[in-house]
Amino acid sequence: MTVNVLVELSNRNIDKYFTYNVPENLQNRIKIGIRVKVPFGKQKLEGFIMEINNSINTDLKDIYEIVDDEIILNDELLKLGHFIKEKTLCTLISAYQAMLPKALKAQNKTHINKSYTKLIELNINKDELHHLKLNESQAKIIDEVIKGNNNIKALKEISISSLKTLIEKNILKERLIENYRLNGNEIVYYPKYELNLEQKKAYETILNGNESVYLLHGVTGSGKTEVYMELIEKMIHCGKTAIVLVPEISLTPQMVLRFKSRFHDTIAILHSRLSEGEKYDEYRKISKGLVKIVIGARSAVFAPLKNIGIIIIDEEHTSTYKQESNPKYSAIDVAIERVKTNDAKLVLGSATPSLESYSRTLAKKYVLVELKQRANKKPLPKIELIDMNKEKKGTYFSKRLIEKINEKLEKKEQIILLLNRRGYASFITCTSCGYVSKCPNCDITLTYHKSSDMERCHLCGYATKRHIKCPVCHEDSVKNLGVGTEKIEEELNKMFNARIKRMDFDTTSTKGAHEKIITSFKNHEYDILLGTQMIAKGLDFPLVTLVGVINADTSLMIPNFRSSEYTFELLSQVAGRSGRSDKEGSVIIQTFNPEHYAIKLSKTQDYNLFFKQEMNIRRKLNYPPYCYLVYVKVIGTDYELIRNESNIIRDRLKENLKSSEILGPSIGSTFKIKNTYRFGITIKYKKEDNLYPYLNSLLEYYKTNNKITIDIDFNPVSWYNM
Ligand code: ADP
Ligand code: ZN
Repeated sequence: MTVNVLVELSNRNIDKYFTYNVPENLQNRIKIGIRVKVPFGKQKLEGFIMEINNSINTDLKDIYEIVDDEIILNDELLKLGHFIKEKTLCTLISAYQAMLPKALKAQNKTHINKSYTKLIELNINKDELHHLKLNESQAKIIDEVIKGNNNIKALKEISISSLKTLIEKNILKERLIENYRLNGNEIVYYPKYELNLEQKKAYETILNGNESVYLLHGVTGSGKTEVYMELIEKMIHCGKTAIVLVPEISLTPQMVLRFKSRFHDTIAILHSRLSEGEKYDEYRKISKGLVKIVIGARSAVFAPLKNIGIIIIDEEHTSTYKQESNPKYSAIDVAIERVKTNDAKLVLGSATPSLESYSRTLAKKYVLVELKQRANKKPLPKIELIDMNKEKKGTYFSKRLIEKINEKLEKKEQIILLLNRRGYASFITCTSCGYVSKCPNCDITLTYHKSSDMERCHLCGYATKRHIKCPVCHEDSVKNLGVGTEKIEEELNKMFNARIKRMDFDTTSTKGAHEKIITSFKNHEYDILLGTQMIAKGLDFPLVTLVGVINADTSLMIPNFRSSEYTFELLSQVAGRSGRSDKEGSVIIQTFNPEHYAIKLSKTQDYNLFFKQEMNIRRKLNYPPYCYLVYVKVIGTDYELIRNESNIIRDRLKENLKSSEILGPSIGSTFKIKNTYRFGITIKYKKEDNLYPYLNSLLEYYKTNNKITIDIDFNPVSWYNM
């Protein structure tokens, strides 16, 4: 017997199967989709068995060993790997590795232990017990076991040697049961609501529809989650399973507890804040069929559930559903593929759907389902725009915002403040010579962090001590300009007698920090929660009646065609955090661009009007959804070489992709990252038959060139790209 193995190295040169001989003693354990160790040159590598051949070839090398008897890649995952390779032009192995938790990847170096509890049980019938002659300490052990105290570790004051004897005599036996590390016994009771008319209609449309993809467009607080749960309950009732994807950041205990209250322990959870051991355990619960629902972030779309009835992608517009590193897959595309295979349904939910998704409902590719009212019949919060040009120069807070904050503090209600920029100052500059402090590895300005007194690069993590004197003109005139959350926190503390918590990347870097802040804010241990966009999504704090946006313009400045869409989305999301229970909510948005349509329309939260205006602009400039985009990046450390080569590539693309518009090469806002340069070429197309074959040949051509890396991103969503 021989097998074809896909080894762990993700190198385009070896993106193929290698054939090995299977020694006689391993043959009965060979299955497709399990991991094996194989010789590879001088190395010992892990790989997946992809094919089994009944031929015999004694010239081949033998596989060394079988890593696990359980199948890691089942038929559906095997097929999905090919799908991802085809869609993103990645190597096959990298597609499979992206689907798996670290402990199950083909990787020679990672091994995570299963954890077990040792139990002791009777190995004979109870009635046989009184025939036995037992000494005192043996009798004591038997006593405990009969009482149901089987956990050896928990048994105190027993004699280990007596226990050994009892086991040797086959009176007792040991049994190992697997532990699942994630401790999720906590159950909080959440009421199950009778669906209101709108929700019911949505539920029925999705359940009874013949189509496979539904866009649930519901304003914030309209009860989308309640509809998801009702659909899932129905699916489980029919013997099917469900996957729920939420953005990483909204995967809070709050969300999980809400599902647990309804579905108890039929749930597995997958997200990046779990330890590798926890992920491994949750994953195995899924493969063993111990759970019916998987809730998780992007990669949970690969959960090996059988018989999927429904996949739900909440906040479908979120850019994190697209993986930014290779393979650059979209969880939505993968979900569509999986619902096809499983004859299941996909529900995309959002208050502000992506323009692409909403257009697809107009083109009848997705079914549009709407929830227009908040579930508790409360009106949407009242939104005021404040023109910061009319305020005193240099202030961070308008008079109106200060007044409102004081009012809410007096009423003992809570406040959320958003500023989408972390750190203290976003700009460090010398006022006498104009020097700007920049990252030496990347081409962006450093941000000043006061707590550590360091200047930091938000891209590569480079950090340096704060400049006191200008390194160029040596004057004492270095100033911090621009403002980040750290600075606002300091200002708030000066201005208000309030308990303030800051939540951003810097305060949530340790495990559990994120949860802790949310819980303590929910318990009203703080009056004001100040944070970056991570506070905008999904959270439900009943006591919050004021949301303030310190500067709505930060995201408008980003040079990307999606900046308006992103701004509208962010403002709608954060506004939706206000007034979610019986108290009326208000929202104050401070801006220097009160006439910009994305900001103006967020006042009325009129998605449809925003959609129309934004689509007009996209049509005029020919941007998605009116075309598709591909970014081709040419990356390397030799500036001249990269620049010349990217011009050559641009010309080749023009020659070979006749129906496309080719732009560039250009340098983006992050032209230089970690000392490598990148030139970007943009391909815009509507229909281009030669696209995949040609780009594939481009990758092939450069695969052995170690000075130039070609990176291709289909349907890019990334902010830093161009
Ligand atoms: P969304 O996911 O659309 O933001 P949620 O599902 O979180 O909305 O619902 C918002 C609030 O309304 C929650 O507190 C939820 O418990 C409540 N809710 C949802 N459906 C109903 C209903 N049918 N009747 C009463 N309250 C409801
Ligand atoms: Zn840097």
